[in-house]
Amino acid sequence: MGLKAVKFGGSSLASASQIMKAAAILASEPDRRYLVASAPGKRSGSDAKITDLLYQLYQQRGGDYGPTLALIKTRYTEIADELGVNVDLNTEFVTIEEHLTAADDAQYFASRGEYLNSLLIAAYLGWTFVDAAAVIRFTDSGDLDADQTDRLLKEALLTVDRAVVPGFYGATAQGKIRTFSRGGSDVTGALVASAVGADVYENWTDVSGILMADPRIVDSPGPIARISFTDLRKLTYLGASVLHEDAINPVRVLGIPINIRNTNRPLDEGTWIQADAGTPDSTVDPQSTIPAIIGLAGKTGYTAVTVHKAQWSGSVGVGSGLLRLFDEAQIIVDLVMTSVDTYTFAFRCDPTSLESLLIRIGTLDPDSVEIRDGLALIGAVSSRTVASAVVSARLAQAMAAAEIEVVVASSGDDTHIVAVDESDYKEALRGAYLGLT
Ligand code: ADP
Ligand code: ASP
Ligand code: MG
Repeated sequence: MGLKAVKFGGSSLASASQIMKAAAILASEPDRRYLVASAPGKRSGSDAKITDLLYQLYQQRGGDYGPTLALIKTRYTEIADELGVNVDLNTEFVTIEEHLTAADDAQYFASRGEYLNSLLIAAYLGWTFVDAAAVIRFTDSGDLDADQTDRLLKEALLTVDRAVVPGFYGATAQGKIRTFSRGGSDVTGALVASAVGADVYENWTDVSGILMADPRIVDSPGPIARISFTDLRKLTYLGASVLHEDAINPVRVLGIPINIRNTNRPLDEGTWIQADAGTPDSTVDPQSTIPAIIGLAGKTGYTAVTVHKAQWSGSVGVGSGLLRLFDEAQIIVDLVMTSVDTYTFAFRCDPTSLESLLIRIGTLDPDSVEIRDGLALIGAVSSRTVASAVVSARLAQAMAAAEIEVVVASSGDDTHIVAVDESDYKEALRGAYLGLT
């Protein structure tokens, strides 16, 4: 089958028994030679993720951090004991505790989750441990240095037969630990896959691939067997949280497919993400029963601003002038809708940026500015087997059938977005799924 870089997520490595499942998956195919490991996640719904406990530990520094530190230590000691590995956890925890008084650095603490888990897993598998601090390079401003990282990963990995690399973090040239944003072990997995020139990047998690909607909201959404990088990027940006959005590009540029798999159901094929497949012809049959979409996703925390001024339409430069104000306020706009003399924008931002934006808009002396916050955006990526206009009509119908007020709607390319009140978010997502599949 060819070389495989393999990443296991937090729930896949949450306990010794889960790590044993991962080890069996690795043993079943010798081509799985490079492992990127997450920190232990939740063992059950009510459990804590180690990464969350580590952030909590950092918050508690200088105060009563003892119980949290003990909880973290117990989790790792249990894993080590049940795996029967001999790693000096006491010394590791002394070092971590020393940092509690010395370092004012949340990212260092957050990184210890994957560091310790990977130490234990490498010992259990008998594979080489390669510390991410030595191979994932960040710039002093905290961004990934992709070129150096690629060089360091190649140097460290291509000379060893099998290695475990902790996900989520790296370090600057001076050795200061930096992390990616949450869920960032997916990014490390993609960087490793790309550096070693893997034939596949396997990403093992707790669902059998990417589903057509968030299974925590929609009951039993259908699976997505295959999806292009482009469509996955759209779904991920719109809020599908299975894979970190920055995990796509490093493998996409080399044409390395990603296979999302379920650690608890290793025989399921999961989802294959690969270079864009040909576009099927659209049919314009509005009665079509073919699923109109590839998938649906959504995000909360949006604000919509509607600005109106008489005679704006027909004047050159109004739209670009308004968009420039968002740039100046450092706000990324996700949806724009124009109508006669009126522009509506939907975006997510903090209160300070919003205030700065509104001051800037005020300088244009508009007739009215309407602000609506507490919104959610729901986006559907159409499957191209059904004409785009039909998808957008079906989405509107679905919202009407569910009696949900659509605050703004926009369709562009193959993506159809509606903004609804946050209190309607889950109902709207369920309604959209029913209406579009
Ligand atoms: P890991 O810890 O393995 O990285 P994550 O929790 O980051 O796993 O991602 C897997 C979870 O993503 C699933 O358990 C599921 O609840 C959630 N999820 C959200 N949207 C989707 C979707 N469209 N398809 C599948 N899972 C989704
Ligand atoms: N452990 C980190 C987190 O919880 C990174 C990851 O799991 O990918 O965000
Ligand atoms: Mg994840």
